[in-house]
Amino acid sequence: MNKADKIVIVGGGSSGWMAATQLNHYFPHKEIVCIESKDIPRVGVGESTVEQFYCWIRSVDINPEDLFKYADATYKLSIKFNNFYTQDDGGFHYPFGVANTDSRIFGELGLDAWQYLKLKYPELPNSDYAKTYYPSISLCETGKINFNERKEFDNNFDFFRSCAFHFDAVKFANFLRDQICVPRGVTYIPATVEEVNMNDRGIESVTLDSGEIIEGDLFLDCTGFKSLLLSKFDPEWLDYGHIIPNNRAWACRVPYTDIRKQMDIYTNCTALGNGWVWNTPTKDRIGTGYVYSDNYTSPELALQEFRDHLETNGFDTHELAFNDINMRVGMYREIWKKNCVAIGLAAGFIEPLESTGLFTTVAFIQRLTETLHQTDSYHKWQVNEYNTVARADYDGLAKFTASHYMYTQRTDTQYWRDCMDREYNISIVPTDISMPATQTSEDYWMIQNVKKNYYTNSYDGLGGTDSIMAGMNANPLNRLQAWRRGYYGHGPSFKQLEYKLPDLKELAERRRKHWENEAAISEYHYDYLKRTFWS
Ligand SMILES: Cc1cc2nc3c(=O)[nH]c(=O)nc-3n(C[C@H](O)[C@H](O)[C@H](O)COP(=O)(O)OP(=O)(O)OC[C@H]3O[C@@H](n4cnc5c(N)ncnc54)[C@H](O)[C@@H]3O)c2cc1C
Repeated sequence: MNKADKIVIVGGGSSGWMAATQLNHYFPHKEIVCIESKDIPRVGVGESTVEQFYCWIRSVDINPEDLFKYADATYKLSIKFNNFYTQDDGGFHYPFGVANTDSRIFGELGLDAWQYLKLKYPELPNSDYAKTYYPSISLCETGKINFNERKEFDNNFDFFRSCAFHFDAVKFANFLRDQICVPRGVTYIPATVEEVNMNDRGIESVTLDSGEIIEGDLFLDCTGFKSLLLSKFDPEWLDYGHIIPNNRAWACRVPYTDIRKQMDIYTNCTALGNGWVWNTPTKDRIGTGYVYSDNYTSPELALQEFRDHLETNGFDTHELAFNDINMRVGMYREIWKKNCVAIGLAAGFIEPLESTGLFTTVAFIQRLTETLHQTDSYHKWQVNEYNTVARADYDGLAKFTASHYMYTQRTDTQYWRDCMDREYNISIVPTDISMPATQTSEDYWMIQNVKKNYYTNSYDGLGGTDSIMAGMNANPLNRLQAWRRGYYGHGPSFKQLEYKLPDLKELAERRRKHWENEAAISEYHYDYLKRTFWS
């Protein structure tokens, strides 16, 4: 048995302060120390969360509204992917929350109904899937907000279980430190760790630049890409470069030119020639960056490509400061070694396309809490289990992220041509699942369900595979499968489909029109935030 009475966190980025918040909340009797260097900056990006984050914020007793006041937050209901399928494809959404599969419209077909529709009406745009099932898309497309308090959309649109945030990453970590952790009793030491002192238990202590030595039972490495503590154990690195080539980013902040129109209530991701650009709107500016692979273009050319993109979209780039970021895409095979647990970028990173950075931070600090809860300490088998689940999580997320590239039909650059030809089914984790959805999404759903049951807390939802596949024109249902389902009674026969589908299409279109009308008369996202939090 290993005790964990005093927990020392090294690193005060989002991960360090989120870990401190979590551990202090669930273990008020433990001594929690967080050491943050004043001289080594945080990575300063990571401004887009997923809906699990809202749940986390509530679980640690933070008022989500404080994020608007202290971290310049805006709401996020979806991620939009533009030009991943083809150039100028108009984009498609991956909405958060639960799909509305109203049985009065879709009958027993539920979430499969759209796949049947697409089979019968191939001219349906790929973006139609999300619009068919999620009222939130009408808000995304108009820049509006509506909490559905009068059930004007429908009964099952629960805004707060469908939303996430964009925020200023630096202000967010400051908020956790100054408003939450320190007032609640976490010890904050502003200092740089110069030495990591080892013994046979793992880490015995760390020496600060002041000469002070800080001892602890359990150490959390939250030092970002450098993994200052975990690297002392010489851990094995698992690289995802073979399925996710992006390894660099240019990041910057642009001022609004028309805030009401530009304060999107979703993260906007636009594919360029050698990667993609993110757009995350916050209170006073838009965070943006070009994630690309330097195997296909140089940093200088990538910067030029990014500037051209911004200029085309009406932004003057002359005064902007661009930050060059190297990304390490992969993970350590064991992110918990002896008495050292790496959290956040120190543990691993999948590129930011699906906002999985803070997602994994939340998942791992929650799992750490569950581990320590059992006996207030930890055993070797729990460390092994933690590492196994972490590998499965990263592997699943890496493959999910890779699926955004896998289905592309773009041939305009070598970058995109290679996306079509890659060996995606090489698993990093030998015992883990193979590539999702190579032919049928059903396999993938089944695997996700198994994982969900086996690894409790791995995924709170089942992910967005259906949204991504629909958006990338990868209908898992073909004529043979539809016929076979009908033949074995697992679905309607072709004859039944003949009269069912036109009605279903009309009802779904009518419902969507209703959502669009409600969105049209709703308040602008920006107006609401300004009126409520920023005036
Ligand atoms: C280009 C890019 C875009 C991203 N976009 C998203 C996104 O949209 N959504 C998302 O969820 N995630 C995103 N991420 C990931 C996200 O940025 C991180 O998950 C998040 O910021 C947490 O970072 P961190 O705290 O692990 O590391 P950092 O922010 O790098 O913090 C490291 C901390 O360690 C401290 N430190 C380092 N060395 C020492 C030392 N010797 N002594 C004391 N302290 C030390 C530093 O001072 C700093 O406080 C993105 C990442 C990148 C690279």
